This record gives sequence, structure tokens and C-alpha cells, in this order.
Amino acid sequence: MKKVRRNRQHAKFARLRRHLEISADLLRPRRIRTRSARYAAALAEQLGLIERPKSCSWCRRRRRLERHHWDYDAPLDVIFLCGDCHEIADSMNSEAITA
Ligand SMILES: [Zn+2]
Repeated sequence: MKKVRRNRQHAKFARLRRHLEISADLLRPRRIRTRSARYAAALAEQLGLIERPKSCSWCRRRRRLERHHWDYDAPLDVIFLCGDCHEIADSMNSEAITA
């Protein structure tokens, strides 16, 4: 039983590595790279590499939290925001891109 769990954990690390590679691969379309970056962050959280706080990093409300990437080139660099703050953060991202 323990061995099964360890193998599963190992498989997750392998998947994390693959998605980190995909997200860094400049030859792939941006849509694929951002998808892999989001997936890598989800896996890293499951593996305990990223810790989810109890409350929103901005407004401190205890709500359902979402992971936010400031930069998809740093797939594991995420902050946790509530839905309202995430919307604001995303609008800041797109302003930064179009600026
Ligand atoms: Zn918030």
C-alpha cells in the first residue's frame, strides 16, 4: 500500500517536470505553454511544494481561493487570491501586456 502511494507521488513529480518543460518551450504555442504552467502549479500544490494560505493574499477574506500567475514563464510562482481580487489581478496583467 505504501509503495503504491510512493509510486503515485513519483508519477506526479514526473508529470510536473514534463509540464515545466512544456511551459518553458518557446517553440510551442502560448496557449499550450500557459496551460502547462497552470497544470504544473496545480501539481506542485498537490505535492506540497506550494502552500495554499487560509485567506486571500490581498484582501485577507476567507473565500474560495484561486491561483494567480503574474508571469507564466515562472510556472511555480503563484499567489492565492479570492475571485474578486483575481479579476483585478488579471486586468492588471492584461494592462501590463498591452502597455
Ligand atoms: Zn481577495
